[in-house]
Amino acid sequence: MTIQEKYGFRKVLNTRGPATILGAARVSDPIRKEIYDILGESVEIWELQRCASRKISQLTNAEAGCVVNCSSAGMAIAAAAVLTGRDPAKIKALPDITWPRKKILIQKGQVTGAGDCPVWQVIKMTGAEYVEIGEALDCATFHLRAALDDTVAAAFYVMEDTFAPNLLPLETFVQICHEKNVPVICDAAYLTDFTMLAAAGVDLAIYSGQKWLGGCTSGIVAGRKDLVHACFLQEMGIGRPMKVGKEGIVSIMASIDNWLNRDTEQIEAFQKRLASNIAEAVSDISGVTCTVEKSLYSPSVRLRMEIDANATGISAWTINEDMGRLDPVIKTDDYYVSRGIIIFDMAYLDEGDDRIIGGVLREYLTGERKPAPGKSGASDVPKTRQDALYEMFDAWLDGDPRG
Ligand SMILES: *Cc1c(COP(=O)(O)O)cnc(C)c1O
Repeated sequence: MTIQEKYGFRKVLNTRGPATILGAARVSDPIRKEIYDILGESVEIWELQRCASRKISQLTNAEAGCVVNCSSAGMAIAAAAVLTGRDPAKIKALPDITWPRKKILIQKGQVTGAGDCPVWQVIKMTGAEYVEIGEALDCATFHLRAALDDTVAAAFYVMEDTFAPNLLPLETFVQICHEKNVPVICDAAYLTDFTMLAAAGVDLAIYSGQKWLGGCTSGIVAGRKDLVHACFLQEMGIGRPMKVGKEGIVSIMASIDNWLNRDTEQIEAFQKRLASNIAEAVSDISGVTCTVEKSLYSPSVRLRMEIDANATGISAWTINEDMGRLDPVIKTDDYYVSRGIIIFDMAYLDEGDDRIIGGVLREYLTGERKPAPGKSGASDVPKTRQDALYEMFDAWLDGDPRG
């Protein structure tokens, strides 16, 4: 009996990638084995964290590293660390800040979600005074210079590939902050180059343990030794309700070994085959354009499918929504689905999943499969992905979240 059968929930074919709401990474056997082994042991957490720090340095080239419970926890803990340093009285005082250095800056155009919560929530929960600089599409060196005074504890930078082109580049941002001795905290939860931030002089970088590293829910804060030290000490303060357990710490160590020793060529060849099989299944349908892509923010192969609803008679939005109601559920990267683009990430597909997904897509696009009447049918007011997410979450206990 599978675990889905035992508890009665649906299997998910995950073509979205390591999204936290889809249970993040599918954890491989060698990592699971180490997590399993530690669960039966007692340990001294500081000692396990010290071992993890060495491993994290090996991965990132940073001076030190600390394991946290997830990336958004890492963002809050890093923010707390720059406010308090290693001063225990200050650690215990948060979120009440009675000293002058209490501002944390961010470019307005980088105000994203720390996952599904807004980035300001994880900053403000420390008690920091949150300040946005620049405009949604632009931020200049003068904006940053003007904001950096003696009350600034840190500046936040988010590593993503979806921002407007005229925000400050990382190198410029770090250089100007360092001229004023202001540390830079970088949210790099989706980044797959683990050494570039230490090279760029970032003071604290946050990476995810359960995304591309492939472990269970966990995160890393890596960087300047004194600040990483202050991150660990938040266990005595506001870090407590988001503490990481021994399983998360060991997961990071095992995941780093796994990442550094993985066979990238073999993985890529397998994923390319799956992506081209899915593309092949719909290649003769007019109005469908497929491209295979890779990026700094995805080590896996992604299939980008653009659907012209005028030609196919069905929109990407409808297909995507209906696939989320099938058994097994099919989940995609739906970030651009309102613009007719569905992205399929190959990271967590097994042999044979490509045939299921290709077959289902073909049925929608040829009209053979009719989608169930949807919550957001064509006549409704168009909604966005967060509306859809909220509707599903809101019906989690009662009703039918799958519509
Ligand atoms: C996923 C993600 C987060 C949140 O990660 P969690 O581990 O789910 O808290 C924050 N920032 C970015 C850029 C992310 O991709």
